Amino acid sequence: FDIRSQGQKSTEKDFENALRPLEFGDFTGQKKVVENLQVFVEAAKYRGEPLDHTLLHGPPGLGKTTLSNIIANELGVGFKITSGPVLDKPGDLAGILTSLEPNDVLFIDEIHRLSPVVEEYLYSAMEDYRIDIMIDKGPSARSIQIDLNPFTLVGATTRSGLLTAPLRARFGINMHLEYYNPETLMRIIRRSAGILRVPISDKAAMEIARRSRGTPRIANALLRRVRDFAQVKGNGSIDTAIAEMSLTALNIDSFGLDEIDNKILTTIIDKFRGGPVGISTIATAIGEDAGTVEEVYEPFLIMEGFMKRTPRGRVLTELAYRHLGRDIYTSGER
Ligand code: ADP
Repeated sequence: FDIRSQGQKSTEKDFENALRPLEFGDFTGQKKVVENLQVFVEAAKYRGEPLDHTLLHGPPGLGKTTLSNIIANELGVGFKITSGPVLDKPGDLAGILTSLEPNDVLFIDEIHRLSPVVEEYLYSAMEDYRIDIMIDKGPSARSIQIDLNPFTLVGATTRSGLLTAPLRARFGINMHLEYYNPETLMRIIRRSAGILRVPISDKAAMEIARRSRGTPRIANALLRRVRDFAQVKGNGSIDTAIAEMSLTALNIDSFGLDEIDNKILTTIIDKFRGGPVGISTIATAIGEDAGTVEEVYEPFLIMEGFMKRTPRGRVLTELAYRHLGRDIYTSGER
């Protein structure tokens, strides 16, 4: 089982990498973010300086890793990738930092999960391109200073609220990625299908897009599954019939909602009569973290029109009742 699941994982990673855009021009959507980053990258290149440290925040699968890779490519510098949980000792961080060439990009995923000690070291590295390492213990303990090449730290987090204030303050550029609308996802799916050389109709691409929960990673994963159905049960190309048949077989919600989205909606109906109810009350009721509900789940439910924010709390819309097949009038007051 282990071998199989690992094999599966690595092919999925290969698949993601094959579909990863390498230039700003290939990156679809997030127009404001991309336009701004292009200016900052251009300016840094013009001055021959590293780009300011950049924080990318937003739900998983929206393109944070992809964008940081593009930033390095467009700057024409090296790219190193690590993550908060992996860097558990200051020595790990020092090792990576001292290996950077001038103006390289260091990407730290899940930067909110850095240990406090490592984070402390990062401050002087970000600010002065310098780290002070303690060597030896007891009376002969002393710190030595290591100078680093200038570099750009790109940090990614799903939850900006979890970053400490001193860390957040050290990022000169701070960008938020939002869920993609179906039209944009459809363009991403068409591009991916082109790379995979699988013919797909616009309507079929739209069908997959609408069920992808506003997320390119999910869109690409669904495309891959639908391609399997097209090759085995059809003639290899993806039309609406094949798309619908596969998505039904895969049990994908018609709006792309996942288990937690649906749990949030049903809980608001069953326990809070459709709202209004506060975000922390919802989170407690479903056993999730309030920040995650607010930064990851709620934005999608609001964008898709299932939920509204009111001064008295969150309220479900008629669409949510219809989607769950509930009767709006018996479940609570609107
Ligand atoms: P994150 O780091 O935010 O979790 P990734 O950058 O790993 O997300 O993106 C997940 C997958 O989705 C990758 O395969 C990437 O190629 C694809 N992807 C993300 N954003 C876009 C986009 N705007 N255009 C095309 N593909 C995208």
